[in-house]
Amino acid sequence: VPIVELRDAVKEYVNGSLRVTALRGINLRIDPGEYAVIMGASGSGKSTLLNLLGCLDHLSGGDYLLGGESVANKTDDQLSEIRSLRIGFIFQSYNLIPQLNVLENIEVPLFYQGVPESEARVKAEALAERMGLSDRLKHKPMELSGGQQQRVAIARSLVCDPLLMLADEPTGNLDSKTGAEILELIDELHAEGKTIVMVTHDDDIAHRAQRVVRFLDGKILSNDWNGAPKP
Ligand code: ADP
Ligand code: ADP
Repeated sequence: VPIVELRDAVKEYVNGSLRVTALRGINLRIDPGEYAVIMGASGSGKSTLLNLLGCLDHLSGGDYLLGGESVANKTDDQLSEIRSLRIGFIFQSYNLIPQLNVLENIEVPLFYQGVPESEARVKAEALAERMGLSDRLKHKPMELSGGQQQRVAIARSLVCDPLLMLADEPTGNLDSKTGAEILELIDELHAEGKTIVMVTHDDDIAHRAQRVVRFLDGKILSNDWNGAPKP
């Protein structure tokens, strides 16, 4: 079963009498374990696509099957539940909760699911260790470097073992050395079989992925497997 299947997906924004068609009939399939990069000029529809894939917004037309299940007619509450159970988000701006320390930030998605505190703590500690954060467990986000904050965000995105990981310019706020470390981490997750969709402007980053999907004016311009044939 594909992780992502968009069928003639359309997204139209309506603000009063103004209508903007951000996605014009997108067909896209992403199979388990794929690492796909989304590229395209500003305004071409990348964020709209990521929001739809992440169940943060509703389609205006067509269908979206996530892990074989249509999400097109779900309520906001159902989408919220799907998000917290099945999607891992990594953002340019980390989106950590400033009042919570490293462990608590990693645990947040587990509390949405009602996982007992002791169990959540064990999982969070294991992921923090894996991300090289063992000596920062009680630090607040403000006390961490950008790269460390992004590692916390990646740990948080992994804690529910998501079906799909979505990354929006995850190295956009990092210097090149720190950014390269984060990209290596993402490569490792891919090597472990995670399914990853990442928006980037950076051609060097795109070369690391298996597949590059280019958007132009709300449509897919090209869809290339980097050198290799489709697995
Ligand atoms: P990208 O991420 O590639 O820059 P977006 O998905 O943000 O592109 O935008 C695609 C189109 O949809 C643009 O024309 C943009 O102005 C429009 N758009 C995006 N979000 C909204 C919104 N909330 N309301 C109205 N129009 C929007
Ligand atoms: P709820 O609707 O139950 O409060 P949330 O939507 O806040 O749940 O959280 C579900 C998941 O979606 C979280 O893992 C969070 O990281 C992500 N998320 C929530 N809001 C946004 C947003 N505006 N942009 C990107 N991701 C978001």
